Amino acid sequence: MSKRVIMAAGNWKMNKTPKEAVEFVNELKGLAAGADSEVVIGVPFVCIPNVIEAVKGSNIKVAAQNVHWEASGAYTGEVSCGMLKESGVDYVIIGHSERREYFGETNEMINKKARAIIDSGMIPIICCGETLTQREQGVTAEHVRYQIKVALLGLSAQEVSNLVIAYEPIWAIGTGKTATEEQAEEVCAIIRKLIAELYGTDVSEKTRILYGGSVNAGNAKALFAMPNIDGGLVGGASLKLDAFEKIIKHYA
Ligand code: PEP
Repeated sequence: MSKRVIMAAGNWKMNKTPKEAVEFVNELKGLAAGADSEVVIGVPFVCIPNVIEAVKGSNIKVAAQNVHWEASGAYTGEVSCGMLKESGVDYVIIGHSERREYFGETNEMINKKARAIIDSGMIPIICCGETLTQREQGVTAEHVRYQIKVALLGLSAQEVSNLVIAYEPIWAIGTGKTATEEQAEEVCAIIRKLIAELYGTDVSEKTRILYGGSVNAGNAKALFAMPNIDGGLVGGASLKLDAFEKIIKHYA
């Protein structure tokens, strides 16, 4: 089977105002036009309406960076899947290590979010990854397998084949310290093997598994060429047009 379509997904985190976001997207549209990867940008909630309008007619898709699993109710400050879907969002990033660390997001919450996102007709990008201590203690595989196993509880084979997993070692996020292609490939292969154990190889060959952690214009090509790495979840470099262009075309 040929390799899955490469995805280059930007995670802007808490950066860019609605006006700055539209200015950026208007430039990115032209640059992304010839890309052979699927281009996604994960923007702050308040930028979503303007960005959805700005990407119309282009090959850029929009992701949210979080969501609540309940459809509505007394959850001050939260946003529902229905709100995102109606706004035109295609993907939702869940379980990012920053949300786990600063906002107490657990594997069980991520599982509920995945269910709700899929039920609303959007696609979750489920993040996982180990700390430096866990890597040094040799428990990376155990930790990542556990995170993904719980995140996928109750999902069907069809649903898992369609979703996206992002392996993001915490020690490589925003640190400029990228995992080597071999280190990233090793864990992405472990995740694919887990999906094969749970759902069979037909499913595991379809699920896209991204690498995230200081992906930049200089390392994207080698990372994305690895057999089990289907693209990148990109933080800092997705805020810069020249770097993100090289990543989505992965020719650097
Ligand atoms: C991220 O936010 O998911 C990320 C990988 O950030 P960076 O690329 O800046 O390390």
